[in-house]
Amino acid sequence: MSSISASHDARQSLSELAPKDGASVPDAVARLLQAAQTAQASDLHLLPTRKGLELSWRLDGVLSSIGVWPAELAPNVISRLKVLADLLTYRTDLPQEGRLRQAPGQVEMRLSTFPTLYGEKGVVRLFVGTGSFDTFDDLGLADDQLPLLRRALEETTGCLIFAGPAGSGKTTTAYTCLREMQQLHAGRKSLVTLEDPIEAELPGITQSAVNRPAEFTYSLGLRSLMRQDPDVILVGEIRDRETAETVFQASLTGHLVLSTFHAGSAAQAVTRLRDLGVEPFLLRSGLRGIQCQRLMRKKCPSCTTGCESCWSTGYRGRVLIAEWLQPESLPTSLEELQIIPADSLQIRALAAGMKRLSERAKELIAQGQTTLAEAIRVLGHEALTPDAPAIP
Ligand SMILES: [Zn+2]
Repeated sequence: MSSISASHDARQSLSELAPKDGASVPDAVARLLQAAQTAQASDLHLLPTRKGLELSWRLDGVLSSIGVWPAELAPNVISRLKVLADLLTYRTDLPQEGRLRQAPGQVEMRLSTFPTLYGEKGVVRLFVGTGSFDTFDDLGLADDQLPLLRRALEETTGCLIFAGPAGSGKTTTAYTCLREMQQLHAGRKSLVTLEDPIEAELPGITQSAVNRPAEFTYSLGLRSLMRQDPDVILVGEIRDRETAETVFQASLTGHLVLSTFHAGSAAQAVTRLRDLGVEPFLLRSGLRGIQCQRLMRKKCPSCTTGCESCWSTGYRGRVLIAEWLQPESLPTSLEELQIIPADSLQIRALAAGMKRLSERAKELIAQGQTTLAEAIRVLGHEALTPDAPAIP
């Protein structure tokens, strides 16, 4: 994703970013944000400590320290970020969050502040991934996985769920699906989204953000959206029973609904949706597929143990691994679907041909794309040992 020269330049400039000798804090903050974008960091942490304002960022899913600015600057730096995000600068005793104002072409950024022992901590989230994967080729899905996803996207009704833990690229994948569908149908289908927040602009697609303080929630918004004659709806995330039920009901009435859901495995996503209150008959008739996924770091192409272009990590860029649960794997009996535990469902899915995440990881290791250490970091030791039981 990030080019070698871009990362290199960002790194060189970091040591010189601290405002000193009359340099203005707004300029330094602007350069820090620019450096984070250039390096394709997903999060930038500014933590006030006894030593100073410690800076770190998350690259390819891993947090690393990038420097310390003088402690006396910390309040001004955080205050500058709060100004950019239209937050209350005089309130330093409450957590706050807001969207950073930005120039055209910059990635979407959101600031969250939190009072700590040494002052307010600031975390800037940069939505780099959602803006950068334009096609399925960019995602790097396995050759036998992609046709399953494409086929599900050809459906005109039903629900397609992207599952995984936080930071597993669920929204990025959903965005890529919408971009591909927009290309394919070129205005012949109405594609709409309901998100919290809108992470990147999708040309040709009607995007809306929920507004919880105004009680414009996912379920309320989705019910209204249905009257806007959409063909395909992306609902940012299923978080509660009401949204889950509305998503599945919408999927039965002539719409294809895409959504994301927090779950460790595809089988667990099914049982968690059920336990959230989605009726087995809705699951049975609405579900078109569940893709459960993780992001794994790829080996740096320029080195074997670490170089400047990979920030001495040995990794650069990430690849998606995924398992795909076909709705045919679900028990036909609704009584059985009502009570089946995740591990029994996993066994059924594997018998029906699902490849588990650990198998995908092993394929990538065998191809030399990633390492065993990275697979263990992402999936845990247990999943990678021979004859391991299915991931929950
Ligand atoms: Zn390297």
